Amino acid sequence: MKNNQALSDTEFLRYNRHIMVKDIGEKGQLALKQATVLIVGLGGLGCPASQYLAASGIGNIILVDHDKVERSNLQRQILFTEPNIGQSKVQAAQAQLAKLNSEINISVYGQSITEFDAPQWWNQFDLVLDCTDNSTSRYFINQQCLKYKKILISGSAIQHQGQLISFDFSQADSPCYQCLFPESSQTPLNCQTAGVISPLLGVIGSMQASTALACLLNKPINHNQLITFDGFNLASRSLTVAKDPDCIHHQPCHKS
Ligand SMILES: [Zn+2]
Repeated sequence: MKNNQALSDTEFLRYNRHIMVKDIGEKGQLALKQATVLIVGLGGLGCPASQYLAASGIGNIILVDHDKVERSNLQRQILFTEPNIGQSKVQAAQAQLAKLNSEINISVYGQSITEFDAPQWWNQFDLVLDCTDNSTSRYFINQQCLKYKKILISGSAIQHQGQLISFDFSQADSPCYQCLFPESSQTPLNCQTAGVISPLLGVIGSMQASTALACLLNKPINHNQLITFDGFNLASRSLTVAKDPDCIHHQPCHKS
């Protein structure tokens, strides 16, 4: 059984450049080793996010994606290579991440996230990365994270525009994804219908991973800030999102 209470000599060596950082140190690296992070979606965002979190030594990573690798994914989903075409994304990702870091636990589920609603399943996570590209999954993840008071780090990218926002639902006054983007009957644009430039996904996925590290290390985070980033001119903007009293998740009688 792996010793979860201390760093081994090989881990000291592996994570040396983290441990040298004043705000991380041995204590912080151990906190990363003891963390459990859910990554939903192994597309253009989930690939870099999972790579950085695996390389960073997050001790327990859970991956959920029901898709198979397609040729059109290779333009941006950098965990996958041509021999992976036709394979399950979670299986291919697990194999690749295990080559990167054999000292962490990686669990995979090849189903849609909407099939998971057991409290004991959601309660195991310290935080959740939403790297999906469809609104059904996004609203479901938002609802579950709210229900189980998790930290949610949500990324998205369309064409050359990227977005990032995080919520800490342990805070009673936290807004949610639905406050920001009320559910509508319109089908929003996604990568399949509008396209996306490849390196932008690396930027936003890396920002999700970086925010995850900051949360797990208990560093001050600007939750509820929508950050938009232009992948061409590199301009970035942010705006504060407030709780919407009309949001369906914050009604006095709402029991989700
Ligand atoms: Zn809300």
